[in-house]
Amino acid sequence: MTKQSVIFTGIAILAISAGCARTQPMIKPVYHPPPAPIKSVAAKRLVNVRVLLLKSSGSIPVFSLRAVKVYDMRTKKLIMRTRLNDDALVFIKEGRLMLDQRFLTASRIRLVPEAGEYIRVRGKRYRGQIDIACHNQNNGLQIVNYIPLEDYIQGVVPNEVPASWPLEALKAQAIAARTFALYKMSGRQGQPYDLDASTNSQVYRGLDSEKEAANLAVKHTRGLVAVYQGKFIAAFYHSNCGGRTDNIRNVWGSNIKYLTGSLCGFCDNNPHSQWSFEITKAELGARLRRHNIPVQEMENLAIQGRDSSGRILKIGLDHTDGTESLKASMFRMIIGPDRIRSTNFYINDQGQKMEFRGQGWGHGVGLCQEGAWGMARAGYRYDEILKHYYIGVKIRRLKD
Ligand SMILES: [Zn+2]
Repeated sequence: MTKQSVIFTGIAILAISAGCARTQPMIKPVYHPPPAPIKSVAAKRLVNVRVLLLKSSGSIPVFSLRAVKVYDMRTKKLIMRTRLNDDALVFIKEGRLMLDQRFLTASRIRLVPEAGEYIRVRGKRYRGQIDIACHNQNNGLQIVNYIPLEDYIQGVVPNEVPASWPLEALKAQAIAARTFALYKMSGRQGQPYDLDASTNSQVYRGLDSEKEAANLAVKHTRGLVAVYQGKFIAAFYHSNCGGRTDNIRNVWGSNIKYLTGSLCGFCDNNPHSQWSFEITKAELGARLRRHNIPVQEMENLAIQGRDSSGRILKIGLDHTDGTESLKASMFRMIIGPDRIRSTNFYINDQGQKMEFRGQGWGHGVGLCQEGAWGMARAGYRYDEILKHYYIGVKIRRLKD
C-alpha cells in the first residue's frame, strides 16, 4: 500500500498542521527491554506468505540458473527436475499447463529452486518458491510467490518508503508492513493467495528491489508486530496525512479503537504535504458520467461538511439538471487518487475550470509515512513512532 493500497484520502487545514506539530516533547533515551514473546497470536515468524505476482492470459518467461524441482501442488509429488533456460516460457495450451515446451500433468505446480538460487519471473528474481496455476478467467495463469514472511518484508519496505530514510522510520515501516501482512492473511485460508504485490496490499517487487538499509531495518525488527488486545492490528498507512490522521470511521465506516486519528505535525514540510490540480468542468462531468453519476453540464461543486481532521465528507455536484451528492472519498477515486491526492482540499471555481488545492496524500488512516520520517529525524524510536499513529497498541515478538 504505498501511496496507495488503501488510498482514499487525506488532508487537514494548513493552520491545523502548523499548530499541531512541534508541541511534542522530545523523549529521552531510556532502556527498553526487548518485547516479550506473544502468546495470544497464533502466527509464527517463520510463516510463509503467498503473494500474487501477476495474472496473465499470455506466456510468462521463467528462468533459473540451476535445476528447479517441479511439484504437483494437488498431490504434493515431485513431477520433474529441470533447468529453466533463458528462453523458457510457461503458458496454457489446449487447456493444459506447458512449461519450457513440455506439457505438464498438473494444473497447479510449485517451482522450488536449489538452496541459494532464485527463480526469475519476467526477468525479476524472487526469494522463496513460485506457484503457477491455471485460473479460470481468460484461461490464464496465476503466478504466486510463496515466501518466508521476513523475506517478503525485505521486498516491501524499500518500495513503500525510500531506503535513504532514517533507520527508525524504516523499522517502523517494516513492523507496519509485517503486521499488515499477518492481518490480511487471517481469513485467507482456502484462497489461492494472501496478498497481491500492488498498492491493493503493499508494493512488493522481489529480491532485485531490496536495499541494504531497508534489509537492516527488517533484520533489526525481525518477528516484531503491533498488536491490540492480543490481535494483529489493521496496520494501514499512507504517504502524508497533511497534519492530522483520520478516524477510520470517517473513511471506511468501521470503528477501530487504535485507528481514531492523531495529530501528526511531522509531515508538513514534505513535498507531498500540499498539492493542487486543475480540471475543466467539461472533463469533470464526463468522468462522473463514465462512473454512472447522473450529471449533465457541471456548474458548481459544494463542500458538504468536514470531519474533525479537516477532510471533506461529501461533495455536492450542481449541474444543469439538478444536484447530486457524493462521498468525498468516492469523488477522489473517480477523478483519480493521484490527482485529488486527499479529501482535505478547497475548491476554486475559475469559470471553465475547477482548481483543487489540498494537503496530504492518501486515505489518512493509520501511520503517516512522511510523519514517521519526521519523527525519526526528531529522535523518536520505531516503537514511539508506531504508538503515535496506532493508539494504544503494543509491540510484541512472534514465536519462533
Ligand atoms: Zn502526517
